[in-house]
Amino acid sequence: MNQNMQLQQLFTFIEKSPTCFHAVSNLEKMLEGAGFQKLEEKNKWDISIGGKYYVNRNDSSIIAFTIPDCSFNEIKGFHMVAAHSDSPCFKLKEIPENIVDKAYLKWNVEKYGGMILSTWLDRPLSVAGRIVGKTKEGLQSSLVNLDRDVAIIPNVAIHMNRDMNKGVEYNPQIDMQPLVGAADAKGTYLELLAKEAGIKKEDILGTDLFLYNRDKCRVIGLDEAFIAGPRLDDLECAYAGMYSLIKGQSLQYINLCAVFDNEEVGSGTKQGADSTFLKDVLTRICTKLGMDEETYCCMLANSFMISADNAHALHPNHTEKADAENRPILNGGIVIKHHGSQRYATDAYSAAVMKDICQQADVPCQTYANRSDMVGGSTLGNISTSQVSVSTVDIGLPQLAMHSAMETAGTKDIGYLIEALQTFYKQ
Ligand code: ZN
Repeated sequence: MNQNMQLQQLFTFIEKSPTCFHAVSNLEKMLEGAGFQKLEEKNKWDISIGGKYYVNRNDSSIIAFTIPDCSFNEIKGFHMVAAHSDSPCFKLKEIPENIVDKAYLKWNVEKYGGMILSTWLDRPLSVAGRIVGKTKEGLQSSLVNLDRDVAIIPNVAIHMNRDMNKGVEYNPQIDMQPLVGAADAKGTYLELLAKEAGIKKEDILGTDLFLYNRDKCRVIGLDEAFIAGPRLDDLECAYAGMYSLIKGQSLQYINLCAVFDNEEVGSGTKQGADSTFLKDVLTRICTKLGMDEETYCCMLANSFMISADNAHALHPNHTEKADAENRPILNGGIVIKHHGSQRYATDAYSAAVMKDICQQADVPCQTYANRSDMVGGSTLGNISTSQVSVSTVDIGLPQLAMHSAMETAGTKDIGYLIEALQTFYKQ
């Protein structure tokens, strides 16, 4: 597929995935289209050699896998890719409506993850997520997305804060509450959401609702070198992982792609990378294929995981923030992340495996390390390996402005990642 088509598919995926729930639903559609069968955690599984399957947890994390078409005692292990479905944003509180001076309707929101607060100001926002409603058949969860400009978080005018350009400390409870209408609009959001879900407003019993940036993804630069869009971290890698799983075929490894929720808040939920989700899926696959516990241990020892979560590229205005040598650039290829204290799971062996894959795929790779006097972020690799211990490399695509409402990445890098992951999955 050429670069433009690939980018357009990525852009459509991101734009249709305002929340983790939508991201998982869209990944499921990709998998269904490629003939994958859905499994439910609560039901017994019927899986067989040569089959393609997926299972979700909480509708916000998903694991898809393919079983090679060979005898089960010829299967060597798992080839896994992990990414995350969530992005930093604002969550509506349970009772969100707040009237100001009998004139304005605001929503009471709180932070989800560590976003750059200022980037959420003065831009049209919408609301999406899931609601759980009471129906004749019992409680029913529905995806909702108002998909129009309904909210804005207005800045204070510079005349009211002359020091504005010296840096502002934002208080989320005060400064980040969105304006959503005149006072009369109170109650309408539930009516709109209920209508979308096909239930009555009174029957909504639970909500997980988030503000999101409605900006479209776009190609930018005089030479079209960059892409800008919301949620590039980590929907670029989630998309690349699942796309490559669908396209790649292995003769001797079970290929698997896991996209976890809650990376932005520490992964410690029932569906996050620190949960038993991956371990449960791997155990069930092996049990169903008739393997004993020792075979499972052998399989793990012979497995490999690529944990794919975006990385910091060299900033054009702040080159001093990057390490002296280990400083990736946009369009420079896949970033292999290293960390002395092992916040990234990469070691000499796993880095070598990844470099070898990139060489085979004929795509460039580069390295990232924090400055030694700076604390970096964490990611999925070392968290998921605490549950399922396999050799893991932490990688990502280089990007700028991580956790901004609008992030910037390279046009070429997504293609490099897809090439490399397909090569990995074909082994
Ligand atoms: Zn991330």
